[in-house]
Amino acid sequence: MASKDFYQVLGVPESATPEEIKKAYRRLAKLHHPDANPGKPQASEMFKQISEAHGVLSDPEKRKKYDQMRKLGAFDFPQRGSRPPGGSRGGGAGAQQTGPSETFDFGDFGSMGLGDIFSSIFGRGAGGRKEQPRGDTLETVVEIPFRTAALGGKLPITLQMTTTCGTCAGSGGAPGATISQCPECKGRGSISFGQGGFAVNRPCPMCRGRGKVPSQKCGTCGGAGDVRGEKTINLTVAPGTDSGSKIRLKGQGEAQEGGEAGDLVVTFEVQPDRFFRRDGLDVHCEVPINLAQAVLGTRIKVRTLDGKKVVLKVPAGSEAGKKFRLKGMGITKGERQGDQLVEIGIAMPETLTPEQEALFKQFADSAGLAY
Ligand SMILES: [Zn+2]
Ligand SMILES: [Zn+2]
Repeated sequence: MASKDFYQVLGVPESATPEEIKKAYRRLAKLHHPDANPGKPQASEMFKQISEAHGVLSDPEKRKKYDQMRKLGAFDFPQRGSRPPGGSRGGGAGAQQTGPSETFDFGDFGSMGLGDIFSSIFGRGAGGRKEQPRGDTLETVVEIPFRTAALGGKLPITLQMTTTCGTCAGSGGAPGATISQCPECKGRGSISFGQGGFAVNRPCPMCRGRGKVPSQKCGTCGGAGDVRGEKTINLTVAPGTDSGSKIRLKGQGEAQEGGEAGDLVVTFEVQPDRFFRRDGLDVHCEVPINLAQAVLGTRIKVRTLDGKKVVLKVPAGSEAGKKFRLKGMGITKGERQGDQLVEIGIAMPETLTPEQEALFKQFADSAGLAY
């Protein structure tokens, strides 16, 4: 369940009167009541949200508090929760299901304390920041050219991620702004919601848990301290990198308010090559020769991994599929070194002129080959 704005849930404006809220609630509750929608889990989810929204907005005290928090931007979790595809997100700040213990009695909304409501909201939205000062681990899959994987090298990649704002270095303040204690949390960085046993401490939405507020917000990040944008990282690819192998780059992941950035985990996907094929540290390739070369023997030039060419002597009478080993021309990984295996393919003449056919028959006759 993605927590929504209570006013949006009930479809009423911020200025709605208690009467309007009641009317909207009654209409929606009837529509989405689980009894009226058997076997529809979305309906019961909707009903829950409607009940939750009504529980707060129908109570003048709770509504006042909610409006305050809403103005402070405490409920801007859709932005934080939605991430572009590609990065896998760990648990915590995502759109989590509320626990199964949350039950609702139709008509009894008074049993829900403010603390429950706010903790369920903040638990999804901004939770975990204080407990986990490190940013999230960002995971990505990177395709690398065959030769870069084999020989190693540098590979620049560009990723979309949240990075510390360069203008304010994460402080959220405009250049030259004076920093003072946050009036909302009195510098504690957290605010306690709810009463009695339901009180919960959550990061202060006004100062975002910093405890301090600038006199003027940074224009680049709007005071958030981090920005969403492209970041280019120059990856070092080790020689002999295989598909599926991973590297972890410490501190190159997403920025985190008041903490160090998370790690970036890169999984490599090696692109196939038109000529080479890998087998451990050995590389295979196939080189075609013609019939005369196969029969009479020849010297061919074979491309190696490093882009050079070596001369390979093919003896007379070499059959198709015969393999030649170029020692040490494969992938080098630490102390170990692979070979390059060259397989011979024989290209047959597709058509023969009558004259060629006569000559070939002459050859076959003299060699005693039946046809
Ligand atoms: Zn900034
Ligand atoms: Zn504060």
